[in-house]
Amino acid sequence: MVIYRFSLKKFFLLLWICCLTFFAAQKKFTVVLDAGHGGSDFGANRHYEETGRLNEKDVTLAIVLKLGRMLEKNKDFKIIYTRKIDEYPSLIDRTNLANRSKADLFISVHCNANTRSAPYGTETFVQGPDQNKTNLEVAKAENDVIFLDEKDKEMFASYDPRSPESLIALKIQQSKYLESSLLFGSFVEGNFEKKDKRFSRGVKQQNLHVLRLNAMPSVLIETGFISNYDDAMYLASERGQNEIASSIYDAILSYKKAVDRNKQAPEPVKQEEKPLKNDFRILLFSSPVKFNNGDPALKGLSDILVIKENGFYKYYYGLTNFASVRDGNLRSAKDAGFQNSTSISFVPDQKLNAAFYTIEVAVTEQKLSSNSPLLGTLKDVEREKVNGKFYYTYGKFSSLEEALKEQKAIEGKGIKNTVVQKTIK
Ligand SMILES: [Zn+2]
Repeated sequence: MVIYRFSLKKFFLLLWICCLTFFAAQKKFTVVLDAGHGGSDFGANRHYEETGRLNEKDVTLAIVLKLGRMLEKNKDFKIIYTRKIDEYPSLIDRTNLANRSKADLFISVHCNANTRSAPYGTETFVQGPDQNKTNLEVAKAENDVIFLDEKDKEMFASYDPRSPESLIALKIQQSKYLESSLLFGSFVEGNFEKKDKRFSRGVKQQNLHVLRLNAMPSVLIETGFISNYDDAMYLASERGQNEIASSIYDAILSYKKAVDRNKQAPEPVKQEEKPLKNDFRILLFSSPVKFNNGDPALKGLSDILVIKENGFYKYYYGLTNFASVRDGNLRSAKDAGFQNSTSISFVPDQKLNAAFYTIEVAVTEQKLSSNSPLLGTLKDVEREKVNGKFYYTYGKFSSLEEALKEQKAIEGKGIKNTVVQKTIK
């Protein structure tokens, strides 16, 4: 018989989970802000009467600095910039910085360009091989546009985005962060579309050098087309840059909320079930016939307690003080075919006043001889003759628990298939 009770072990497990949640909440959320291009790498650029030469590297830095100021006001965040001035950190330097700082999110800000002036709008890229062939072509073109210094060339020399090996390695490395990157990307594009009324070209997967070796969720945001007049004016304006920064900021907040939710509840933390005051057993059936353990009448159920009362044997199944286990036991009993079974509560260690428990140790047609093994083993066995049968009982106990304890003890002496009997005084 197994009794389920509240354990100390479970308590400490719960305490530990609480501590983890607490410390997780204390740790700052680290965001790497990467202003695309810089220094001698101007990125995409066009000349407009209103702005002069409009360079991608200047727009990306302006947006990143605005976004950084918003984040720095929020004490939940730690901000790391790949550059804060007009300089060119190599792509590997950017990646190394992000990986070393064990960042939670990497955001690379860029501006798009096309040979035609018509295309406009925003798009966000996450790292990952795309089955779409045209996207791969776009990726290759985008990567070619990005200036690679000597260190980068060395690093990426062995990497051919079209080789199956590279694609497989990429899939394994990036699949870990793909889902999170896609989630963040969808927040960014959603804000551009709904808050800023921009045209969103969506969230896409591409093989991009700047994201490829990052060990964290990472996105590259194309904030608009420098090659499109309206987009270019928007990108060059204070208002446009503020809106873009603010939309990315809100996306970071939404993303962090989602991450925290997942951290706090890996699965819904189950309310610790409190034990009930009483013990519960499932009454399967009553019968004037005595069935021993393993009898087909018990339909394969073990953990059976038989209590005899008023000449009837009552067959009880299971023992627990937890409601959930009790309900489970009742279902098991019904599944086994005891359709009329019902759960019965027992007050633990209840002492009887008007009755007592004894143990029925044998029922025989013939009177046992005084040198029988049973009577040789147990002293003070009582005999009663009812309807031509001899009933032998042993001991007198005021509680069920005491009777069960003694029943176990005599079983150890080889006296099996006994029944606890409740007798009115
Ligand atoms: Zn760029």
